[in-house]
Amino acid sequence: MGRTAHTRARAPAAAGTARALSSFPVAQQQAENGERPVLAVDVDGVISLFGFDETPPSSVGRFHLIDGMPHFISTAAADRLERLSDHYELIWATGWEERANEYLTGLLGLPTLPVLTFGSDARFGSAHWKLGPIGEYAAGRPLAWIDDSLSEDCHEWAKERSEPTLLVPTESELGIEEAHVEVLRRWAEDGYQPS
Ligand SMILES: [Mg+2]
Repeated sequence: MGRTAHTRARAPAAAGTARALSSFPVAQQQAENGERPVLAVDVDGVISLFGFDETPPSSVGRFHLIDGMPHFISTAAADRLERLSDHYELIWATGWEERANEYLTGLLGLPTLPVLTFGSDARFGSAHWKLGPIGEYAAGRPLAWIDDSLSEDCHEWAKERSEPTLLVPTESELGIEEAHVEVLRRWAEDGYQPS
């Protein structure tokens, strides 16, 4: 409702140039995102699955050649993340950094997402190096974080955040499951109650 009124009030002023016209929805989107909880999304172990004892089951995902490497991409991840974007501002929190947008958003049918960068700190199989950039991006906002490598450090950090924070661990060979979507949806809808 507020969105319609806001658009009507601002549209004439933005009509002067093509640049203003095209940048207005971005600014509006950013303002709206500022009021939403953040969902930090890992890739390896959440979307790109690994750690199978045998050949990965075709019911769970399929192989894609990404940047010259075969990745087993969860077939359910796209729909699950899409549904969560109704409640959250999704951001990439992964060592893939910009490559997540480059290779995955098209594959998953997601819009381009904000990307956190970690310099040379990224280490496969751990997640503590993500804390600084995630904390900075989500400052002042509720934060959920889905990742397969959440350590004790990450849980301690989450407890100390002053805003509501929910860590959602996944199994690397299953990635984001329906139960995770349910927990995340309920957390956002119910006012961030601790589970
Ligand atoms: Mg991971």
